[in-house]
Amino acid sequence: MKIYLDGQFFDKEHAKVSVFDHGLLYGDGVFEGIRFYQGRVFRLEEHIGRLFDSAKAICLTIPLSAAEMTEAVLETIRQNELQDGYLRLVVTRGVGDLGLNPALCPKATVFIIASKITLYPEEMYRNGLTVVTCATRRIAHGALSPMVKSLNYLNNVLAKIEAQQASAGEGLMLNEQGYVAECTGDNVFTVKNGAIFTPPISSGALAGITRQVVFEIAAELGISITEPEMTRYDIYTADECFLTGTAAEIIPAVRLDSRSIGDGKPGPITQRLITRFRQLTETSGTAIY
Ligand code: PMP
Repeated sequence: MKIYLDGQFFDKEHAKVSVFDHGLLYGDGVFEGIRFYQGRVFRLEEHIGRLFDSAKAICLTIPLSAAEMTEAVLETIRQNELQDGYLRLVVTRGVGDLGLNPALCPKATVFIIASKITLYPEEMYRNGLTVVTCATRRIAHGALSPMVKSLNYLNNVLAKIEAQQASAGEGLMLNEQGYVAECTGDNVFTVKNGAIFTPPISSGALAGITRQVVFEIAAELGISITEPEMTRYDIYTADECFLTGTAAEIIPAVRLDSRSIGDGKPGPITQRLITRFRQLTETSGTAIY
């Protein structure tokens, strides 16, 4: 495996960052998770755009232009001769001293790992997964903006632990006001009376790229999609529920907190979205080779 690190390619065992890197010491940095399918990177421009927005929001200067970053991503996949996979793109504040002052980190660290990922087994796409509400709340806008895809995922990691302790596939996270934000690594949607709903970004949802694709598919299929503030009640009483994320794609959720959602089976609108989503991943994207 060849890893991109600050402009050079290293074998996996030689791709190393300093223990003084503030990405490690303080979780000071941003990242993206990107999928590529059949020799094409899905929604690459959107991912690069979100990465630069995340960096801007935390005053982190990325030492590459968006075009150079795009080329670095494509070249990393080429170096590994992959057609399908998952890519992790990370930009940290870089090496500094032990204080948290980012001004003492002269240059950001950039690394890119192209690999494989299968998050949920295929059977879960057929039967749907179980979700539980986590006690850990989604980070507040007044703390670190939940829009920033930062290296500070401990909040979500704690929620993920709760979900795992409850043997659930995902954990639902509420915001401080008790409204639904999203899951630990996925956005959440419901379907009720033929219309699709998802919490607004203001509730603490990440502006997911897959979430955006669902908006596009819904428009194409002529299905209403809106972003009202949502509570757990809306999910308990929904006809269908599904989660979205780059790794998970679109996955049905059939139980929340021991209540069956709808008839407890993946619903027809969810299935239609999955079908169309898979068509898009197979037929669109930035060519790698
Ligand atoms: N929410 C969180 C907290 C996430 O980490 C992710 C995964 N990036 C998502 C939602 C889904 O976003 P996307 O569709 O861009 O992968």
